[in-house]
Amino acid sequence: MEYFPLFLKLSGRSCLVIGGGNIASRKVSWLLKSGARVHVMAPEINDSLKQWATSADYSQQLSLEIRSTISADELPLKEQFLVVAASSDRQLNRHIAEQCEVLGVHCNVASRTSLGDTILPSIIDRSPVVLALHSGAKSPTVTRFLKRQLEAFVPRKISALVSWAEHWRKTVKQRLPSESVRQRLWDRVLSGMVAEHLYDGQSSSADSIMEQHLEEAESGQLWGEVFLVGAGPGDPELLTLKALRLIQQADVVLYDRLVSDPILALLPPNCERIYVGKKQADHAVPQVEINQRLVDLAQEGRNVLRLKGGDPFIFGRGGEEIELLADSGVSFQVVPGITAASGCASYAGIPLTHRDHSQSVRFITGHLKSNQVNLDWPELATPNQTLVFYMGLSGLTEICRSLIEYGRGEQTPAAIVEKGTTPQQRVITGTLATLPDLVASKSVSAPTLLIVGEVVQLQFQLAWFNQTPEGLA
Ligand code: SAH
Repeated sequence: MEYFPLFLKLSGRSCLVIGGGNIASRKVSWLLKSGARVHVMAPEINDSLKQWATSADYSQQLSLEIRSTISADELPLKEQFLVVAASSDRQLNRHIAEQCEVLGVHCNVASRTSLGDTILPSIIDRSPVVLALHSGAKSPTVTRFLKRQLEAFVPRKISALVSWAEHWRKTVKQRLPSESVRQRLWDRVLSGMVAEHLYDGQSSSADSIMEQHLEEAESGQLWGEVFLVGAGPGDPELLTLKALRLIQQADVVLYDRLVSDPILALLPPNCERIYVGKKQADHAVPQVEINQRLVDLAQEGRNVLRLKGGDPFIFGRGGEEIELLADSGVSFQVVPGITAASGCASYAGIPLTHRDHSQSVRFITGHLKSNQVNLDWPELATPNQTLVFYMGLSGLTEICRSLIEYGRGEQTPAAIVEKGTTPQQRVITGTLATLPDLVASKSVSAPTLLIVGEVVQLQFQLAWFNQTPEGLA
């Protein structure tokens, strides 16, 4: 590590900034926020700096000096806590850095880390929580990219959590002498409903849950929570922010076959992983056992992540899993995910509705019960609607045949999306008449989604994802 990150109290300290352009003003804005007294010296000074120097907030902190020529030797460097050399004159910046080095004054040189001893990082300010980022000036673009990701991830209202936790700290310490129990309580609080209530501005609800948790912890009965989270169809970037946060905090995860490897890679290294995947007609772990396991793990005091492909409430048995939790008094949250229909349709370039072609869309299970798809075929065969069949691969021939039999034209476009939203995505398009044979001629494997309707033909125009030879079936 070439530079040591350090948070400094700058309030009231003198900082000299040489330069009056955009780079200088960006740096000055952070210095002002941290309470520094800033003197700017430059041949020209931009409008932002001029505005701040006369603004109610900063006029006491910021002074400006327009000087046509600046020489490093004449600058009042010795009196400064920090000097920022941000002029357009590289030679001048170098001289300033050298002088500061001799005088032992901290110096930052804009865009040149080889000069000066101080870096002003990229900052995410959620005071009192502050994140500082730097890539040793090697790639400001990567730093910017990372900053955008972190900005989305760090809760906007984290400060509410900080002051609330500060308020409770003493009480918790008094009532729970054991450090490990305290730690478990805080983990539970910071990742659970309490934090959610605080982010929603409901501090009294947060207080009453905290009181309840404290009583549970005192009597040795602090249970964990269960998070039933939709992991989306495969692409990890389709996770919601909330799903990502809960994934990164899990103590133990129960996951299905549909949860993709890149998503599992986001779990913390010490998180216990339990596979409860099901294959069609071959339930690896019986549903009742999964339901009971969730209750047991939570009652052991662990935060349990139940991670399911797509959306937990769409053909996902999510409802059944939380029924037992509700009956057992275990608290839980449900986080929706992008369901396969939305994910696959978007990534295949098939709008599920369209003003000209389709006014409604139906999500249907194509799962065969004793080799018969028991569905309302006359209803499904009516025109101007898009049909999306989940689990429809093995019933494909039967589904297409029945739709034609009940009146949907055999030329109706239809597509199979295989492993949608993943790098292995393939889209096979045909019609109700041709699709079963087309699919049979290519070795297609689960998961696949069947989309039927006129909108499918838009795929030829709108396909955008994975346009590689393998992706174009
Ligand atoms: N809860 C899930 C659906 C579970 S049922 C959701 O909301 O998406 C499982 C079926 O979902 C699979 O048989 C398949 O039809 C569909 N499916 C899930 N992920 C898919 C993917 N990446 N590509 C294609 N189909 C997918």
